[in-house]
Amino acid sequence: MKTIVANWKMNVGIRESIALARGTLLALRGRMHVPEVIVCPPFTALADVNKTVARSHVTLGAQDIYWEQAGAFTGEISARLLVETGATHVIIGHSERRRLFGETDEAIGKKTAAALAHGLIPIVCVGETAEQRGSGQTEEVVIRQLRAAFAMTTLREKDRVCIAYEPVWAIGSGKAATPEDAASVHLALRRVFHESVKSGADALSVLYGGSVDGKNAYGFLRETEINGLLVGSASVKLQQFTEILHAAGEAIEGAEAGRRTGEAKKS
Ligand code: PEP
Repeated sequence: MKTIVANWKMNVGIRESIALARGTLLALRGRMHVPEVIVCPPFTALADVNKTVARSHVTLGAQDIYWEQAGAFTGEISARLLVETGATHVIIGHSERRRLFGETDEAIGKKTAAALAHGLIPIVCVGETAEQRGSGQTEEVVIRQLRAAFAMTTLREKDRVCIAYEPVWAIGSGKAATPEDAASVHLALRRVFHESVKSGADALSVLYGGSVDGKNAYGFLRETEINGLLVGSASVKLQQFTEILHAAGEAIEGAEAGRRTGEAKKS
């Protein structure tokens, strides 16, 4: 399976969100192979988009949460409140939140634990800056962020966390990582997850994000190490997003054909 997450950021209001959700449903209609699709509108559009995608393959995610359940936290939204909107997923630790709103690794750990405690699937973003990449620190940075995300989760919950590798320099810049570079970071994240976060054969879902568009999506999606994509700018352009969804369908079809050929050779 491949997963496509649409991060609409603060770019769309309620009407535009509903239109995008409808367009997403149309793009999937009648297709044999469809990815798991999670759309993440702004908080104000969650309830309406939930109605639009009800009883479809498309599920709902939010772009952030606060870790406390309730109380005097003006302007914040807790996991408990999010669940009421129909959201099943939540993006946590996006680099824009780390950079512009001062979110720390510790805060991201608390948010991840709070999301899990309320049955939400956290999509935790990790990624290095251009400077860190330039000084060869990519793996060190993303592994530190990965460990922090899991720091307050219980053993049983760890399988429910999804990681999005989003190099900061690639977000909104038009300069995506190469699929090979992304796959090698995904492999490192998975290795650390299995070696020191949770041992055993449980899968860790790792998505790539950063300047994905209709043209480069398939290159990422055909990599087995890449479980899917977190898409920003291209997710609010329906034509681009449709191409990405169809690229995911092709990658799923290709993987299934590859599996069948492998099984036929074995027997
Ligand atoms: C993002 O903000 O998560 C993102 C991946 O943005 P973009 O696709 O625009 O690079």
